[in-house]
Amino acid sequence: MKRLAILGSTGSIGRQTLEVVAANPGRFSVYALAAGSDVEALRRQVEAFRPALAALGNPDIEVRDFPIPLLRGEEGLVTLATAPEVELVVVATSGAAGLAPTLAAIRSGKEIALANKEVLVMAGEIVAAEARAHGVTLRPVDSEHSAIWQCLLGEAPRTVERLILTASGGPFRTWPRERLARVTPEEALAHPIWKMGPKITIDSATLFNKGLEVIEAHHLFDMPYERIEVVVHPQSLIHSMVEFCDGSVKAQLGFPDMRLPIQYALGYPERLPHRYTTVKWAEAGRLDFEPVDEERFPCLRLAREAGRAGRTYPAVLAAADEVAVGLFLEGRIGFLDIPRLIAEALEAHRPAGPVDLASIRAADAWARSWVERSAGG
Ligand code: MG
Repeated sequence: MKRLAILGSTGSIGRQTLEVVAANPGRFSVYALAAGSDVEALRRQVEAFRPALAALGNPDIEVRDFPIPLLRGEEGLVTLATAPEVELVVVATSGAAGLAPTLAAIRSGKEIALANKEVLVMAGEIVAAEARAHGVTLRPVDSEHSAIWQCLLGEAPRTVERLILTASGGPFRTWPRERLARVTPEEALAHPIWKMGPKITIDSATLFNKGLEVIEAHHLFDMPYERIEVVVHPQSLIHSMVEFCDGSVKAQLGFPDMRLPIQYALGYPERLPHRYTTVKWAEAGRLDFEPVDEERFPCLRLAREAGRAGRTYPAVLAAADEVAVGLFLEGRIGFLDIPRLIAEALEAHRPAGPVDLASIRAADAWARSWVERSAGG
């Protein structure tokens, strides 16, 4: 039984991780669970999975009569992630909350299944260097990176020519720009294929999510940006591809269900036999591909630029988007204001000092208040 700590257990990936645990009896035991603020959902999970420890990231929520020891705040998450009993840490927190616990878990030599994009986007250089120094493999949970990881197994790194990330294109793939300006939060939240939380669903609609994934791929697979391509593939059956020096291309395909890459990351290097929905190939019809229209979806270009600029630009990119998406969901700004605010924040940012957790956090805080002020003013 592999002992897990699941950080962000009440979110979409966290809940699906617990489904994978339940679907593989005898394989995994849940040693620790951590949530951000949803203490009632955490309580139900604790009752169902009986962990030894729990933590709540938000230190301000009042909690009474919790059935097991409940640690609080970022320190609580770090304690869970580094507990001696824990073998594998699933980082499914969102935003900057995963940064400190992931670094602490890497330094304690834990196995890491990483679903929190911002960890690699904000602090990719630091996290990748620490993982190398401690001999830790970062197991990607995102479907695209899991696909690339699977395609790369058994291949020499020098033979890899290009990574090709596939994008569903989101619900507005075919909409003209004038129409995009009037998109409502309800329209944007209706993602045709993947079941996800609201933030990442909006990020899929703007293609910002694909931009984050390009930066993640850069750090996870040590690949220069000019050799990471994005292609729209509306059926989402190919989860990503790798092209090799002989022109041969490997792709990983499967039904679009997040439990598949989650289970692969938990079970690695083994493939566990549980089958979720499988693709009926005779009925699948066709696989379509088209280019990304960066005129209508500028977020992808913004993310590439921030990734290339490095330093604290990716932290500003991620924070500006998080605030802008929140404002859009509250109906305070339009859909096209999301890329506009991100572009303006990147333009206004002035990186200072060496890149460390402190400067990354400062850039994050600066971008948040900058976007709030710009949108409000
Ligand atoms: Mg993805």
